[in-house]
This record gives sequence, structure tokens and C-alpha cells, in this order.
Amino acid sequence: MMLILLKRMFENKCPECKETLSCENDVLCYIKICPHGHYKEETYPTLGVKIVYNPSK
Ligand SMILES: [Zn+2]
Repeated sequence: MMLILLKRMFENKCPECKETLSCENDVLCYIKICPHGHYKEETYPTLGVKIVYNPSK
């Protein structure tokens, strides 16, 4: 289950430029962010919350 989640995280692409999103994670959340700043996604698995920032939309 965890492996599937990690694989999906690393396969994510920016919807704008199709660049691979860079991933960070700390104790509380996973962050996926476009290297060009188009897109940012924060996932809090413990809370079941996902926040998406998509400034171009
Ligand atoms: Zn982008």
C-alpha cells in the first residue's frame, strides 16, 4: 500500500508544464510542487486532507 502511494507520488506531473513534481515530506504532510511554481499539493494522511494550489486556474 505504501509502495503504491509512493510510486504514484513520484509519477505525478505538473498539469501546466508536464514537469515532474518534486516531492517533500515531513512528519505531518507530503508536499508535491512544480519546480516552476505552477502547482502545489499538500497531503495530510493523518487527517485525510489534501490541499491543492493551482495559481493558473
Ligand atoms: Zn509547472
